[in-house]
Amino acid sequence: MNIDNRLEKLRQKLAGKEIDAVFISQPENRYYLSGFDGSTGFLLITPQNTILATDFRYLEQARTQAPDYEILRITNDATAWLPELVADLNLRRLGFEAGHVTFTMYRGLTEVLNKAQSQLRLVPVDGLVESLRAIKEPEEIEFITNAVKMTDDAFNYIQSEIGIGMSEQEIAWEIEKFLRENGSQTIPFDIAVASGPNSALPHAKPSPRAIQPDEPVIIDIGARIEGYSSDLSRTICLGTPDNTFNKAYDTVLGAQLTAMAIIKEGMTGDQADSLAREVIEQAGYGEAFGHGLGHGIGLSPHESPRLGQNSPEKLADGMIFTIEPGIYINGWGGVRIEDVVIMEDGKPRTLTKANK
Ligand code: ZN
Repeated sequence: MNIDNRLEKLRQKLAGKEIDAVFISQPENRYYLSGFDGSTGFLLITPQNTILATDFRYLEQARTQAPDYEILRITNDATAWLPELVADLNLRRLGFEAGHVTFTMYRGLTEVLNKAQSQLRLVPVDGLVESLRAIKEPEEIEFITNAVKMTDDAFNYIQSEIGIGMSEQEIAWEIEKFLRENGSQTIPFDIAVASGPNSALPHAKPSPRAIQPDEPVIIDIGARIEGYSSDLSRTICLGTPDNTFNKAYDTVLGAQLTAMAIIKEGMTGDQADSLAREVIEQAGYGEAFGHGLGHGIGLSPHESPRLGQNSPEKLADGMIFTIEPGIYINGWGGVRIEDVVIMEDGKPRTLTKANK
């Protein structure tokens, strides 16, 4: 983990935004910039200082995991120590993570600063660290590739185990056991196994429903290695797929392959999304593709960039994201096919190997 390099890039961004420090409260961003993964902690980063504030439980861990940081012991919420710290450092414009700081924390800080007649201005910033995280370093690519391989293995395993009459919950638990026994640190999101009409819900929870012959079954799996996630969806059918299945499946696969073939560096998330969306619309399923084409993946299973309608984020080399078009038909079921790709030499390369 090259913390110095990440901090240098962050500091360049601070200069561009005319803020003289940033307060990091979002846990994955804090880990990314410091290496500290305790459950409580905040960073204050200025051009000269790197300060990690945490409580008694984590002091030792913080010193070990974040040796370049000055460790500040705190006993209370940010209103009790942050105003004094920023006054000591003579800060004027402090960026905070607008998407993460709660209204309660913001109001508390404002009240304390006003009472002290502080000159400090709190400046909301969005996506500052997330935009750095979107471009993966070689070590991160290795971790994600390993996590993707683990979900591929889990899918191969469950294909050999799954049978008509097994419940969605049983299958989800078999997958979860396989992942944990093979070294997945945690399960990054609830495994989805959705059969028949349940598969029409893009985020269905596994139920006691037993798998029937000839119906769609969507399986959505993630693993986590060294903090990094993978994400895999496949749609299978035990028995003989009907015409509805075949048409929906071929359309979703066609949409995915079209997007993979045409996506290139510099395209926006919106443009990438519309490549697949047009294929699905032309087949008459426009209304049935109700979510975005994909999302970045890394320390969080859903992160920047977003591939979806109105996403202005530009795709660039080093980004790793999913491509997962779907069709959902109320009462019948759904089809989703999801692969993880990495942008290399201006084009996506598929990391996922599970068969379709
Ligand atoms: Zn996904």
